[in-house]
Amino acid sequence: MTRILLLGGTAEARALAEQLTAEGIDVTSSLAGRVADPRLPVGEVRIGGFGGVDGLRAALRDYDAVVDATHPFAKNISANAAAACVPDTPLLRLERPGWSARSRDSWHWVDTHEQAADTAARLGRRPFLTVGRQEIERFIPALREHVVLARVVQSPDATLPAVWRLITSRGPYELDGELALMREHRADVLITKDSGGDHTWPKMEAADQLGVPVVVVRRPARTPGVPTVHDVADALAWVRDLPTMAT
Ligand code: NAP
Repeated sequence: MTRILLLGGTAEARALAEQLTAEGIDVTSSLAGRVADPRLPVGEVRIGGFGGVDGLRAALRDYDAVVDATHPFAKNISANAAAACVPDTPLLRLERPGWSARSRDSWHWVDTHEQAADTAARLGRRPFLTVGRQEIERFIPALREHVVLARVVQSPDATLPAVWRLITSRGPYELDGELALMREHRADVLITKDSGGDHTWPKMEAADQLGVPVVVVRRPARTPGVPTVHDVADALAWVRDLPTMAT
């Protein structure tokens, strides 16, 4: 039977794991182990890094194909997968569409988190910071004196400025809740990365309704040459079409 390694940590990866399992396809989901209490996909799960490209290449002995459904900003594992799968292991990238097609005049696109911090520092005094725990430290130098509301899934290790307020929660979010939160904080600028998809989109809608500018960090560049699909159905079709599925 064809064995699929599904690099996950996203809602799309969980949805694909569910559908592959329902079709009786042998899939193992892989998580980095970043959060203490991850949402687990159905089916077999392994947790923790592989040890770089060589470790991942060694792990691939147990699989016939790889689907990289990691987050658009998880660039290291995607680059490792692209390198480790050459030349023999079929690799598909499943990546949700970004938000550039929905961009508004009030959005400010930047390339780095530091640029996002500087831009937000100019635009407002009370930012709503939603870039995730791993990047939060990069905002401290520029926003130390700002009244930041930072939302993360799990508290960061970094010590945050005393004036900042931290809330921990996990999406998906609803428009009403985002409006209420931004009004309560009196947010005057929203900072996000281009995570894309619908689960965290309501904050963008809320910012638009409230007339709050948005600073958006562009996605990192992808490894060229990796076939890519943008929804779970297409990833499922790719797996079904693998040559090994026919044997
Ligand atoms: P990253 O910078 O690309 O990865 C750093 C290292 O973590 C990788 O080199 C790899 O270690 C390990 N790793 C990452 N994803 C893995 C996976 N699915 N299975 C096994 N090992 C993995 O990734 P990141 O930005 O830290 O994100 C970590 C995970 O969180 C990803 O799986 C991603 O889907 C999820 N996530 C990330 C974000 C985000 O904003 N970055 C948001 C939501 C979810 P080795 O080199 O030792 O193999």
